[in-house]
Amino acid sequence: MKLPEYAYFKGEIVPYAEAKVGILTHALNYGTGVFGGVRAYKNDDNGKLYLFRPYDHYKRFLNSCKMMLMDLGETPESLTQHTIDLVKKGGFSEDVYIRPLAYKSSEMIGVKLHDVEAEFSIVALPFGKYVSNDTNAHVTVSSWRRLDDNVIPARGKISGAYANSAFIKTDAVRSGFDEALVLTQSGHLSEGSAENVFMVRDGVLYTPAVYENILEGITRRSIMELAAKELGMEVIERPIDRTEIYICDEFFMTGTAAQVTAITKVDHRPVGDGLMGPVAAKLRELFFDILRGKNEKYAAWNLEI
Ligand code: PMP
Repeated sequence: MKLPEYAYFKGEIVPYAEAKVGILTHALNYGTGVFGGVRAYKNDDNGKLYLFRPYDHYKRFLNSCKMMLMDLGETPESLTQHTIDLVKKGGFSEDVYIRPLAYKSSEMIGVKLHDVEAEFSIVALPFGKYVSNDTNAHVTVSSWRRLDDNVIPARGKISGAYANSAFIKTDAVRSGFDEALVLTQSGHLSEGSAENVFMVRDGVLYTPAVYENILEGITRRSIMELAAKELGMEVIERPIDRTEIYICDEFFMTGTAAQVTAITKVDHRPVGDGLMGPVAAKLRELFFDILRGKNEKYAAWNLEI
């Protein structure tokens, strides 16, 4: 991966090479960081970059900080401004991925959340596709389980919790799958390693509810709204059993990185007829237009840089 040229670090934009932490940094040792993932999309017709729902991303980021007792003294608006400044400085002419990170910065020994300093950084880098087979992904149900809210809350995007996602993803990829679905301790579907999930059965769209140890995805929220308003679908949040995925009509995953990725095979069984279905196809078309500022109706989701 090509490293970015600049980073927002300790209150200013600096060359990326200067944005360094010591090896005793609390977050590096104990996973006491929280992060985000925001994207800016290039519209090739007008040459502009559009940041997708930055205030919602930063609201979730600050809520994650709150859980971890980190007070950054920032607002969604100020963090968005730092992001705009950084992206402008980078002079990008393509799609960009933005990674804000808040971390317990004290260099010390001691497992706790209180009385530890916090800092935050932001980097921005060019970014293409995250899942290569985004119209025909083959996924497996992981033998790992999702972290429970009373273990490490999945609703907070906490760095340490991503060791769980890393176990899930690597086992799946090494076994030849594109991604994995993960179940909760009680055996219901939770999400992917870094994506929320949706199932279509008989024209109704289902997704696991927020109490199923999911990250409350910004893409998930957007897709639920689009399915209801633009496709006129009933959207239901409820527990989903593992075997429902084997017999459903359509299945797809959503996320800032994965966008809307159609899953056409689960554990070697075709989903529906084994091809991307009409709901995923329509949602992808709608969503991709919105992301590039080509749909006036949802212009409020975008911030032009
Ligand atoms: N679940 C997990 C575990 C994730 O890491 C992500 C990526 N942020 C998502 C779901 C999707 O969330 P969003 O649409 O906000 O990117």
